[in-house]
Amino acid sequence: LLYKIIRMEKVEVVSHLAASISHEVRNPLTTTRGFLQLLNESKAIPKAEKGYLTVAIQELDQAERIIRDYLTFAKPAPEEIESLNLKKEIERAINIIVPLANMNIVELSSELESCYIKGNAGLFQQVLVNLLKNAIEAMPSGGTLSILGSVEKTLAKVTIADNGVGMNDLQRNRLGEPYFSTKEIRGTGLGMMVVFRIVESMNGSINVESELGKGTRITLTFPLTPSVEKSNSYIRILN
Ligand code: ADP
Ligand code: MG
Repeated sequence: LLYKIIRMEKVEVVSHLAASISHEVRNPLTTTRGFLQLLNESKAIPKAEKGYLTVAIQELDQAERIIRDYLTFAKPAPEEIESLNLKKEIERAINIIVPLANMNIVELSSELESCYIKGNAGLFQQVLVNLLKNAIEAMPSGGTLSILGSVEKTLAKVTIADNGVGMNDLQRNRLGEPYFSTKEIRGTGLGMMVVFRIVESMNGSINVESELGKGTRITLTFPLTPSVEKSNSYIRILN
């Protein structure tokens, strides 16, 4: 038990720190990138030396990607656990990834049932956006991304399916391993690690089905929060 408490405090400190990093480090990264870009356009700098600038810019872009996969929705305040409307949360995440889907000519289809699960809205957004982004990135020359939110008995299910490049068994097994990425310079290999950690903290589970060249279907399962119970106690308070 003691070990668990210490671990939880550590997690809280880390997520606090993470949020500050995300907010405070992004600005100087952007400024630095802007100045390097300007130098890169300068006529006074020899071509050979511009190679250094190009590498520097690429490395800054990688830092930006790491922050994005890891910390986009982190909040400086302690993480609050609330009742999340699954349908609303998924719609929010879809809105965020629409531009990326359009860029890759990916068609979106969604069927969402309204229900409630317990979790932190920011962290759950991080999960959904990372999964949706991976699905779109798996379809570089277009495809269909379908998102299903449904209720099955006492469980809420979210299914994200793409008909993209898919994974072999080895890749599927390495999913969630820190820094595992097949995207060469454009990947961080942190997205799925974050997804697994957050889903676990929500008492949820993840199922991955994938076939090379066919596509991938990821199913998240969470315990349902009975919304009826919530409204009953609300009425009781009013009375
Ligand atoms: P990144 O996206 O930065 O590579 P992730 O942790 O998000 O890191 O994903 C790790 C790897 O898992 C990806 O590089 C890719 O090989 C594989 N992967 C994840 N989602 C999918 C998907 N929907 N289809 C095919 N491969 C995927
Ligand atoms: Mg990713």
